Amino acid sequence: MASVTFEHLTKTYPNGFISVNDVNLHIEDGEFVIFHGPSGCGKSTILRMIGGLEDITSGEIYLGKELLNDVLPRDRRLAMAFQNYTLYKHMNVYENIALGLRLRDLPRTVIDSRVRSASSFLGISDILSRKLRAITDAERQRVALGRAIVCQPKVLLVDEDFARQNEDRRKEMLHDILRINSELGITVLYVTNDLEEALSLNKRIVYMKDGKIVDC
Ligand code: ADP
Ligand code: MG
Repeated sequence: MASVTFEHLTKTYPNGFISVNDVNLHIEDGEFVIFHGPSGCGKSTILRMIGGLEDITSGEIYLGKELLNDVLPRDRRLAMAFQNYTLYKHMNVYENIALGLRLRDLPRTVIDSRVRSASSFLGISDILSRKLRAITDAERQRVALGRAIVCQPKVLLVDEDFARQNEDRRKEMLHDILRINSELGITVLYVTNDLEEALSLNKRIVYMKDGKIVDC
């Protein structure tokens, strides 16, 4: 598990637009932090820089004491849950969850025990052999979370488009993510532009506007 620290974090796009502007923030190890602010204020850009999907223009991101800037995305001990998570329809649930571990060349027995404990945690143990097309949307979402936690990340990044489609599924997803935080101790950075949802969670809210933190 790990804390996350931003020091003078800045993102300037090639067209000169400053999307994240000198952001400083410390998130405690094991904390659940909500990033809230109007569309376009830089929330996703921050998550993408942490995940390594976007270069950092200047400033630093630390995971614990480790400077993340120069760590390859696949070597960062974090997981991302975004809308465009890729699940493979021709594979079964087990294979989809195991995928990230296979890519890491772990022994089969280690993969097996990790897939089984992640799926038991998420309540999807009984559908491991089903093909993706034979499960519900809610189950697919749990498979995506299974794939995220099976790699034992220190931090989970959740962007707001993950389960935006449906109110009930959104509640289930939030319930799962709160458990991932409280029971597995994984630090969570959760993005939402829904103020009501942000307030309902009773967690620290980082308010952003125009690429800056305005309150937290
Ligand atoms: P949020 O997730 O808070 O809605 P984003 O982080 O996606 O906002 O975007 C922040 C700002 O950066 C927006 O104004 C967006 O238009 C701008 N932006 C995003 N990607 C690029 C890009 N490749 N080039 C220029 N501007 C961009
Ligand atoms: Mg966004």
